[in-house]
This record gives sequence, structure tokens and C-alpha cells, in this order.
Amino acid sequence: MSIDTMLARLDDPKPNGRDRWRCACPVCGGRNRSTLSIGVGDTGAVLLRCWKEGCSPEQIAHAVGLELEDLFPPRETHGAPLKRRRLITAGQALEVLDSEATLLVLCASDMAKGEQVDRDRLLTAAARIAMIRDEVRA
Ligand SMILES: [Zn+2]
Repeated sequence: MSIDTMLARLDDPKPNGRDRWRCACPVCGGRNRSTLSIGVGDTGAVLLRCWKEGCSPEQIAHAVGLELEDLFPPRETHGAPLKRRRLITAGQALEVLDSEATLLVLCASDMAKGEQVDRDRLLTAAARIAMIRDEVRA
């Protein structure tokens, strides 16, 4: 669904900057004309924010006769293949790298003291980092 469909269903939205509008929240807004912020996200999704009662996007969508999924652009069903969905987020990838880096530091410190280190665990660390590399490349 496009932003225009949403705007057409709301009560007299006023432009409030680029890809931004304000109007009364259809759930709780009453006569206050600025309780709801409407925007367009990077992916084309309709963003809704109620500043009065904190009404959820789902409540707001229902109030104007839409479903939550209507706020999102339709999925590609033909044409270019969908981009492969990443198995892990960037945040998760960094967490893994951070913990493996810590492990490597501890192992290096043990080795410097002439202590035994778990060679298999070191190889696992290398494998995990390689997995992250492959995931980010995909
Ligand atoms: Zn509201």
C-alpha cells in the first residue's frame, strides 16, 4: 500500500516536512490535529506514531479500515529474485566477532605465559569468523 492510500483515509493530514504529515490520531486524537505523526520509512513502509495515548500502528490501521500488513509495501512476487534474507543481523555478527576476539586475546595471553591452549577452540573461533565473513558477503 502506498502512503497516499493511508493519507486519504486519515482526517485532513497536514504536511510536516518531507514525507511527513500530522493529523488527529483516528484512535484517540479527538479534535487535536497533531496527535499522529505519519511518515514513510526507508523501505516504503508507512510509519505511524501517536503522541497522545501511544496507540499502536495496528490500532491506528484498524481505525481507518486497514490491516497492519497494509502499512508495508507489497512483497516482490515476480521480476528480480528476492534478496536472500540474512541469517543474522549486523548486531549479532558484531557480538560474535566481539566474543571471539575476546577469546583470542585470552588464548594469546595464555600462550604468552607458556600455558596450554585449546587448539580446537581456536579453530572454532576462526570458523565462526569465517562464517560471519561469508554471511556478510552473501
Ligand atoms: Zn492515539
